[in-house]
Amino acid sequence: MAKIQIKNPATGEIVDEIKSHTEEEIHLALEKGNQAFKSWSQVNAHERSRLLKVWANKIQDEKQDIARLMTMENGKPLHESLGEVDYATSYIDWYAEEAKRIYGRTIPSHTETKRIIISKQPIGLVAAITPWNFPAAMMTRKAAPALAAGCTFIVKPAIETPLTTMRLIKLAHDSGIPKDVIQYVNGRGKQIGDIFTKSPLVRKITFTGSTPVGKSLIKQSAHTVKNVTMELGGHAPLIIHEDADIDLAVEQTIASKFRNAGQTCVCANRLIVHEKISDAFSKKLTDHVSKLKVGNGLNKETDIGPIINKKSFEKISQQIKDAIHKGATVLTGNNYHVNEEKGYYYVYPTVLQGVTDKMIIMQEETFGPVAPITTYETLEEAVHIANNTPFGLAAYFFTNDYRIGTYFHDHLDFGIIGWNDGAPSAAHVPFGGMKESGLGREGGIEGIEPYLETKYLSIGNV
Ligand code: ADP
Repeated sequence: MAKIQIKNPATGEIVDEIKSHTEEEIHLALEKGNQAFKSWSQVNAHERSRLLKVWANKIQDEKQDIARLMTMENGKPLHESLGEVDYATSYIDWYAEEAKRIYGRTIPSHTETKRIIISKQPIGLVAAITPWNFPAAMMTRKAAPALAAGCTFIVKPAIETPLTTMRLIKLAHDSGIPKDVIQYVNGRGKQIGDIFTKSPLVRKITFTGSTPVGKSLIKQSAHTVKNVTMELGGHAPLIIHEDADIDLAVEQTIASKFRNAGQTCVCANRLIVHEKISDAFSKKLTDHVSKLKVGNGLNKETDIGPIINKKSFEKISQQIKDAIHKGATVLTGNNYHVNEEKGYYYVYPTVLQGVTDKMIIMQEETFGPVAPITTYETLEEAVHIANNTPFGLAAYFFTNDYRIGTYFHDHLDFGIIGWNDGAPSAAHVPFGGMKESGLGREGGIEGIEPYLETKYLSIGNV
């Protein structure tokens, strides 16, 4: 039986060893999920809601334990893991309520002898593929609306961080949610992705991860015309206008840029600062960033944990090298703590000034604790720099002038906009991207629609 070793990215130590599922086991799990759909879809909405609430409460009861486990497999600071457990629970709480609000409608008929009724039905078995950067929340924001809608659910967590997901699913079963209604399988992404997308039993694929993998899952899903939701890469601009409150902008830039060591798809990736305040902003930002503590996430004082793996580390360090080579100035950082033998990789938080669009860091998502600063003179120029990317997930801007804020809001091609706000995510709002950042939205009332089919009934001869 093939085994997968889960390593602590902070130390390189093995946290656990789990079983990799065989092709037969994955097919069997899909069959069970499909079979369970027949009964779960008939459970009344209030009962589904009740079960989801029990699940949410159980997660909260074990919050400290789950957060520790998450830090050990993902590396993020413990306080961030605790925050993620709350964030993950909030999706279950929110969709437990929404289960009771899946409304249809009636439409006035065009003749006296007909009645028209529109109803919503769960789509069927949902297969999810999730990433390592939010091992709890990326699963619950898919599982909660799926289960609330009456769908059954199977997830393949990231190979780096399956333990948190497995723990949460065990708690779902302990809550009384039937075993086949929510399942996980472990193994290589490509292999499981192929099985999920080829299977006619799976009616929906929901994915959070990189844009190239998302594109291939969309293509593969075409064979059986599956509904897809895609949360893909970002390349978020963060614009700071000349009138902005600089202290607020610095605080929120740090919150956005350095969370999870810069490894989130909504992390500010390009700081676009008005030239008149660029020096003042850069100095304050550098002062704060240079004080951030790097280390093992289990240490209380840690602000920045390790990078998830060697591949990510190499991408980040090469982007920094490329920027310096092409003329950027290092204001702080560009230091590393690496042990190849043990297998851990730390990047000290880095601020780069004088960045231009010729540098890779301005073209590609960094997924690391690096803040590149470029400047602008006019609003049009700021918007041009911000939109000059195939991605369109999150964008941020800082201004106290409502006309300028309205201009940015109108012209930025991004699905999530933070105005004087570096942390806009929440369970009750639609999260998702434009352009190559994705398809569909998760969270809010928009987040349950993709798990529902619309059925139109025409009653004649009345
Ligand atoms: P990241 O760079 O953040 O790891 P990926 O898109 O590679 O982003 O991974 C996100 C998730 O997709 C993980 O669960 C991973 O195992 C899975 N995955 C990777 N490659 C494929 C693939 N070809 N088909 C389906 N899933 C994949």
